[in-house]
Amino acid sequence: MLLKPRYKSNELIIMKSLFMRTNLSAKDKKYYLKLEKGYQGEVMFDQYTSKLQNDLYFINDLCIDFNNANFQIDTLTISQSTIFPFEVKNFEGNYLYENDSFYTLSRDEVQNPLDQLKRSSTLLRQLIKNIGFHTPIEGNVIFINPDFTLYQAPLNKPIIYSTQLNSYMKKLNQLPSKLTSNHRELAETLISMHQNKSPYSRFPRYRYDQMQKGIICPESNSFLICKDDKKLVCVDCGYEEELGTGILRSVEELRLLFPELKITTTLIHEWCNVIHSKKLLRRILMENLMATGYGRWVFFE
Ligand SMILES: [Zn+2]
Repeated sequence: MLLKPRYKSNELIIMKSLFMRTNLSAKDKKYYLKLEKGYQGEVMFDQYTSKLQNDLYFINDLCIDFNNANFQIDTLTISQSTIFPFEVKNFEGNYLYENDSFYTLSRDEVQNPLDQLKRSSTLLRQLIKNIGFHTPIEGNVIFINPDFTLYQAPLNKPIIYSTQLNSYMKKLNQLPSKLTSNHRELAETLISMHQNKSPYSRFPRYRYDQMQKGIICPESNSFLICKDDKKLVCVDCGYEEELGTGILRSVEELRLLFPELKITTTLIHEWCNVIHSKKLLRRILMENLMATGYGRWVFFE
């Protein structure tokens, strides 16, 4: 049972917006693409876990401050007798494992996912002990990408490769598991401790007038166009969306980028760029947002 679904983080939404609408430095571009790829990998993993029928709780994207430290768990699974934290990595291509470290074949060291898993598992273990639970923890790093190869891969590390996912999921599904109110309490407590902000996000500077306007496709890196009065469409990936949904999504994005801006019809008309009828836009905003003020001075909350 899914108790906490996965959403795109605010950091990812903002970085995608900056990637699409501004001229990011090569370093920031790379950082955005890494974030996006990581998120896609987590969504791929969700496609496996969502098929399980067993009595298990799933908590996605848990970010907790504990003991003056912060830790993140991509997916946390609670079964009757074990807690399984998963660190999902969407590495692609050839990597090398040597002296307890991960390298690309060009010998660039990358952050060791096993270290990340160990750290988050240790903090999680302390935390659940602290709130009165003693369930054993069994973490795994998931290499979700089928085009990932690890040379000199260690045998005795908690790693699951994409080729092993089906059998691992079968194992999880057949685990003897009957959850009780105690498990629920543990899950709810962890979810209540979740912090929405990622402490690691630092953004490049940006200004409203420098940003390219338009409605961004949520599925690809392109802008949507109006198909008709009701639908938006992406010519790049074929994604289609109700006009209202796309507009409200863009309003949320604008608010995230510029919390101080007053949302008016004129501003959103400019921001979305592709909505020809201001009257239609105004009606959509009126129907979905709380309006304050009168006439020309209406703004939305
Ligand atoms: Zn698209």
